Amino acid sequence: MLQRIPDRVDPWRLAEQGETLEGHLKLDSLPRLAPLLANADGEAAFVLTFGRDERRRLVVTLKVAAELYLECQRCLDDMLLKVDSKTRLAPVSGLLEAEQLPADLDPLLLAEGEYLDIAALIEDELMLGIPSSPRHEEQNCNRQAGVEEHGLTEDEPKEENPFAILAGLKTGGNDN
Ligand SMILES: [Zn+2]
Repeated sequence: MLQRIPDRVDPWRLAEQGETLEGHLKLDSLPRLAPLLANADGEAAFVLTFGRDERRRLVVTLKVAAELYLECQRCLDDMLLKVDSKTRLAPVSGLLEAEQLPADLDPLLLAEGEYLDIAALIEDELMLGIPSSPRHEEQNCNRQAGVEEHGLTEDEPKEENPFAILAGLKTGGNDN
């Protein structure tokens, strides 16, 4: 049932054949993703479809689904992040080409004729979905808001709202 999928494939050839590849990857086999996980036991399921759009541009459609266990940065307990994404990718050779892609296509850095590393592609996609400071929803967190005010906010630069500052000045200086 499961095809044996090579680590690297020729997307240009697969596009000519309108090929679809379907499989699973163990999360602990992904060297950049695994260290970010509280538990890397699971798998990611993927479907890759190769084709060309109306402009004859190579388009790789990637669907990936996985359950990622991250460490909540507030209570340090596990939290589940369900990933279920679909991305349409078109190969580009650089930034300029990437900027010219239509909005429904994401850039995939790949030179003409270059092979595609499937695991790296899926790993990139999964890593994009991970927040830089993952946390439970407040009502689901084991540590309630208000208990921990310091030490956790450094990676979230506080946005100073100039209107709020003005409003504060105004009310502060209004008691004459
Ligand atoms: Zn939490």
